Amino acid sequence: LESYVGFDTIQEQIRKKSLKRGFELNIMVVGASGLGKSTLVNTLFKAKLSRASCISQPFVIPKTVEIKTVSHVIEEKGVRLRLTITDTPGFGDQVNNTNCWEPVIEYIHDQFDHYYREESSTYRKARIPDTRVHCCLYFIEPTGHRLKSLDLEFMKRLDKCVNIIPVIAKSDTLTLEEREAFKRRIREDLSHNINTYPIIHDELDEDEVRTNTKIKEQLPFAVVGSDRNVSVGGKAVLGRKTRWGVIEVENKNHCEFTLLRDMLIKTHMQDLKEVTDFLHYESYRRERCSSNGE
Ligand code: GDP
Ligand code: MG
Repeated sequence: LESYVGFDTIQEQIRKKSLKRGFELNIMVVGASGLGKSTLVNTLFKAKLSRASCISQPFVIPKTVEIKTVSHVIEEKGVRLRLTITDTPGFGDQVNNTNCWEPVIEYIHDQFDHYYREESSTYRKARIPDTRVHCCLYFIEPTGHRLKSLDLEFMKRLDKCVNIIPVIAKSDTLTLEEREAFKRRIREDLSHNINTYPIIHDELDEDEVRTNTKIKEQLPFAVVGSDRNVSVGGKAVLGRKTRWGVIEVENKNHCEFTLLRDMLIKTHMQDLKEVTDFLHYESYRRERCSSNGE
């Protein structure tokens, strides 16, 4: 074909470039103390997509006393993923939790601010380092009742600046029936009050809209975390040993940890970043520009 220019190879060029550069994802964990936030972070790092190809060093996140951010590079088949996790101080220890969201919101805004400064600087870098929080995992106490007013208050503030994915912490403490009923009640509590991730937006095709709608019907994910291996049939798996047997963290029949992990680092990574950019960062930027009188 004479008129063939060959821009169909662009796709392959872009793919190669981005594979070479690698991927980055910034996640934040929020919730009351003792709900297993630090443990779940360790679980995410330990339970990688495929263990064999991983080159990263294991490490343990110290007990949270302030906002702490740690990065970890995971490599799979030559593709690098830098996973950065921000662990926030748990709330709920104090009798008075007024404004306990403030340091969290401030941290998120600070990252927007850094990005904004880089973006508006005259000597702008070719690639702006992106520390913006792409996703916030909000830990819900496994009470089996409803959301607490503190959770609603907190998330109401968070959903203005970050993608929220609610999770039921330590869901091994609930029976399967309790879990389903709790999930249903939480969805009711969230539905008219809080914007959770994923969202249905214009950039999505039909399939993606269908997937996101389905995910929304499964939220919040009932997760179990563990940073220890236990032996199941002679094989070492991440799990928790209980009096009644072993809860396997990565077994879909035992909990929804893998649903969460796959969504974060397999199916929705790019969308989390895009929504952060065009929705949350954009509204921050707009507000900032208008208050500057620009
Ligand atoms: P954080 O304060 O939210 O960071 O909570 P930690 O990760 O420090 O966990 C607090 C305690 O809960 C530890 O003893 C963990 O072993 C335990 N824990 C963590 N995840 C789970 C879970 O999924 N199920 C159960 N039953 N216990 C958990
Ligand atoms: Mg902790």
